[in-house]
This record gives sequence, C-alpha cells and structure tokens, in this order.
Amino acid sequence: MKTRQIIVLGSNFGGATAAMELKRKLKEKAIVTVISPTTDFTYIPSMIWVPFGRRKMTDIKFPISPIFAKKGIDFIQDKAVSVDPKLNEVLTEQHGKLTYDYLVISTGIQMNFNIVENLHPEKGMIENIVLPKYGERALERFEELVKDPGPVVVGATQGASCMGAAYEYLFNMDKELRRRGVRNKVSLTWFTPEPYLGHFGIGGITGGQTMLEAFMKMYNINWITDASVDKIEKDKIYLKNGQVLPYKMAMMMPPFIGAEAMKQSPELVDEKGFVVCNEGYQHITYKNVYAVGLAVEVKAPFKCVVPFGVPKTGFPTEVSAKIAAKNIIAAIEGKSEFKKRDWGKIPAVCVMDAGHKEVIIFGDRLFRPRNFAVMIPNIFNDWGKMLIEKYFLFKFKHGLSMLP
Ligand SMILES: Cc1cc2nc3c(=O)[nH]c(=O)nc-3n(C[C@H](O)[C@H](O)[C@H](O)COP(=O)(O)OP(=O)(O)OC[C@H]3O[C@@H](n4cnc5c(N)ncnc54)[C@H](O)[C@@H]3O)c2cc1C
Repeated sequence: MKTRQIIVLGSNFGGATAAMELKRKLKEKAIVTVISPTTDFTYIPSMIWVPFGRRKMTDIKFPISPIFAKKGIDFIQDKAVSVDPKLNEVLTEQHGKLTYDYLVISTGIQMNFNIVENLHPEKGMIENIVLPKYGERALERFEELVKDPGPVVVGATQGASCMGAAYEYLFNMDKELRRRGVRNKVSLTWFTPEPYLGHFGIGGITGGQTMLEAFMKMYNINWITDASVDKIEKDKIYLKNGQVLPYKMAMMMPPFIGAEAMKQSPELVDEKGFVVCNEGYQHITYKNVYAVGLAVEVKAPFKCVVPFGVPKTGFPTEVSAKIAAKNIIAAIEGKSEFKKRDWGKIPAVCVMDAGHKEVIIFGDRLFRPRNFAVMIPNIFNDWGKMLIEKYFLFKFKHGLSMLP
C-alpha cells in the first residue's frame, strides 16, 4: 500500500488530536505532518485567569513538538498561507508548496476587530483575553484599576460567539475586586447580544437564565441583553439602544472569523472564512479535505434581534478531530464506513468558572432539541475547572489522544 501524505494545519486541541489519532492508527501507512507557527500547546480555557494573575502563560503551555516527534509525527514550524484544493497543495510562508493526499484544517480563528472602531486592543481602550499578549496586558490594567478604581464594563459584541469566556472573566473580575478590597468602589456592568442571560449561543439551558440573573443580583452586577455596540471612545461605550456606559476599564469579546490562511482559500470556506463541511467534518466538495474545531462552519440554529454565533468549545473540537481522523483512516484502508455527528448533536460538556462558584453544564446535545441538559453550581468549591486543566495538560503532554 502506498504511504499517504497527511498534512494537519494547526497544533492545538484539534490539530494535535487529529494528528496523534491518525498516526496512532495508521502507523507506517501514512506520513503525518503538522504545520503550525506555534511549537507550544496552549490550554486556552485557563486564559481567563491570566488577567488576574491566577495563571501565568508559562503555567498553561508546554512544547508539543517533542511529543509529536515521540509519536512519529513530523512537525514543521511554519504558517500556511493558503490551500489550493484542486492541486492538493498547501502554500506555506517558508517551506513553499507542500502536497498532501489528505488535509486536516485546524487553524482556529482570528478576531474581527473591524466591526466597531477602537475595539482593537492595540488602540489602548478595550481589553481582550483571547491572545496571551492581550491577557497579560489586561492584568496590568487590572492592577492599575485596583490602585485607582472606577467603572468596569465587560461584554460581548454583536456577532460574538465565545460568550462563556466573557462571563467567566466578568465573574472573576467581581471576585478579584472583592479579594483586593475595592469592589465597593467599582460599578460592574455586563452587556451581551444574547436575548437573555445564559443563552450562550446554544439556545440556553433550563434554569440557566434564572441562575445567572441570581448571580448578577447577588454580586451587584448590572446587565444589558440584546446589546450591540455603536461607538467606543476613550472612557465611554455607546450602545445602539442609546445607552452610554462610562468605563475606566473595559473588556469585550469580539466576533471570530476564520484564520487568515483559510480566508485566502475561498474554495473551501464560507464568507467568514470557516470551512464548509458535512457531518463527517469532510469538505463538501473536496473529499480529501477535513476541518475540525474552531475552523469548521457551524450555522447558528436560532435568529435573535442582535446576531451572535455558536460556541466551539474544546469537547466538540476533540470529537470532530476524532471523527475526521476515523474517516480518513477508513478511506485509506478502503472501508466504506463514514462516521457522522453534526456539531449540534455532540454532547454539551463544559465547566464555567462563575468566580465564587463554578457551574457545570452538561447536556446530551449542544443544540436543542435535547433529551436532557443541566446547569448545576458546584456548591463545594471551584476545583472542577482546575482539575480539567491538569487532566488536559497531562493528556496532551503524554500524547494520550485516545482519552476523552
Ligand atoms: C478565552 C477563551 C476561553 C475558553 N474557555 C473554554 C472552556 O472553558 N472550555 C472549553 O471547552 N473551551 C473553551 N474555549 C474554546 C477552546 O479554546 C477551543 O474550543 C479550542 O481552542 C479549539 O481548538 P482548535 O484546535 O480548533 O483551535 P486553537 O486552539 O485556536 O488552535 C489553532 C491552531 O492553529 C494554528 N494556526 C493558526 N493559523 C495557522 C496557519 N496559517 N497555519 C498553520 N497553523 C495555524 C495555531 O498556531 C494553533 O496551533 C475558550 C476559548 C477562549 C478564547
């Protein structure tokens, strides 16, 4: 049997899982090559703690290229520029064109700061927690705020999809301000494009709205739903409903769009740069191209007054990576089986750090209709999210991609 060339773009949750599963099962039948600009694996969910000094970036990342080497996976530190699916070629910045028999795209996202002027953290007004350098800067801003307190605004803009992380940042802001003894000098306001608290881009979970409203009242946080941002000035945020929110510090979650390399590969993606796949995470036209995790197009199964998107969290990312790997293996081994699981039908599994408490979200499906879904506070402590962090760092450090 001819040795197949499989290229995986991206080396984090989706890319690392797909590459390890492919190599583990195909062994000498395939040369698996990961291309990524980053040699480190980063446990992104813990980045909500970086802006408060509870985690340093060095605590939540480690070099993954040696793990790939141990597993017999080739690693090229480079960036894809574009993909030509007709020629089966990836154009890279430094290694020219590389050809593949199968391609797995797991290039994550980039943020769209263009929807509102001055949203970009480089403008020095609004903080961001998605990239390490911005999270570290948000920590500096937080320390300044503690010394000289004033109003804080946290929100998600129209079109955002990662509301959960913004909620976590909000509740941690409240907790840390209390711990530092200045909460009584800070008014805290949350705004969101969701029609109600706890929609999360998944149509909500029974009891979730009531619980989040109770938290907001308990922690004295004002909230605004159906919000979209009109204008940002140095010390004021203007919403389209006419409300003006003064701030000393503000953090906003912007919309996500596909990685630049995918935007440069128009035959593969939708208008936002997300790869258009079937339920087996296979491209709808180019059958040897797969996409997993944040790179996949997932259409929102709802329409609200203010548009916003669907969260693409770690659990469905790994599920999609394993499905894509299984389907590539089946194709190479000449089997007719084709595994399918629509993104919305993957179970909802998440732990949200709500500051003083953590909330466990679990449902049989991400999107409604569901047979069951629960959102329950962990009344004992907030060790669940930390335990999951330790588990994932252990799992990826040891290349144990077969584990859930
Ligand atoms: C602040 C924050 C908090 C979160 N909290 C949670 C949580 O609590 N629970 C949860 O389940 N999920 C959470 N998520 C979501 C979770 O991080 C994602 O589901 C996960 O990272 C998706 O993995 P991925 O591999 O698709 O993308 P990423 O993890 O973003 O990886 C993308 C990879 O692609 C590489 N890449 C980018 N461009 C190129 C290119 N041109 N060529 C080659 N490689 C490229 C990058 O270097 C990186 O290796 C959170 C996300 C954020 C931003």
